[in-house]
Amino acid sequence: MDVVTSPHHITLGDRPLVVCDIDEVVLEFLSPFTVFLRSHNYDLLPRSFRLHGNIVSLLDGSEMDKEQVYAFEDVFFANQHLWQKPAERAVETLHALSVDADVVFLTAMPPRHHGVRRKLLDQFGLAFDMIASEEPKGPIVAKLHNRRDLPVAFVDDIQRNLLSVADHVPECLLVTMMANTDFKPFAPPPIGAILAATDWDHTGNILRQHFATAKSKDVSPVA
Ligand SMILES: [Mg+2]
Repeated sequence: MDVVTSPHHITLGDRPLVVCDIDEVVLEFLSPFTVFLRSHNYDLLPRSFRLHGNIVSLLDGSEMDKEQVYAFEDVFFANQHLWQKPAERAVETLHALSVDADVVFLTAMPPRHHGVRRKLLDQFGLAFDMIASEEPKGPIVAKLHNRRDLPVAFVDDIQRNLLSVADHVPECLLVTMMANTDFKPFAPPPIGAILAATDWDHTGNILRQHFATAKSKDVSPVA
């Protein structure tokens, strides 16, 4: 399937929708990025929930400056097929969910690397539609879901994205999860209606239960 930049290009079935972030959710990011940095004599230290200020030289301990962080991230994304792999149980869980729901990826990676990402996801058998955009995620999920009377869920590791979707699609089930365990303790605690999932098995159960509950509400009680 193609990389698309607008939700208008995606056709959904008459069934629940799962919108899913990529980095740290479907694909590992922090762990392979750390290995990549080490191959260049830097390390990423889990000291707080950010990259900037936590990347240090293995040679003299100095912190990498902002411009350099962006430059390294860019090289990493351009070569992501050499480094990134699916988070544990991501592929199996998404395939199982896709039997009863539409799955759409929503990634905010710089647009110039979308082709590489599409190819990599396809290689892992993750041929679901992918929207690639650096715009806030809430309005995109709103356009995609289009106020259908069907369940919708959003999975992401970044609270800002989850809150954006909460603002624009109040009925959306919000799940936060991340593959990397070293940085997880530094993630801001989930607020509002955001549910924290430990891993993909947990996320799968949360989503299935949500879809089943929504379905049972559709069935009129027998008199
Ligand atoms: Mg992410």
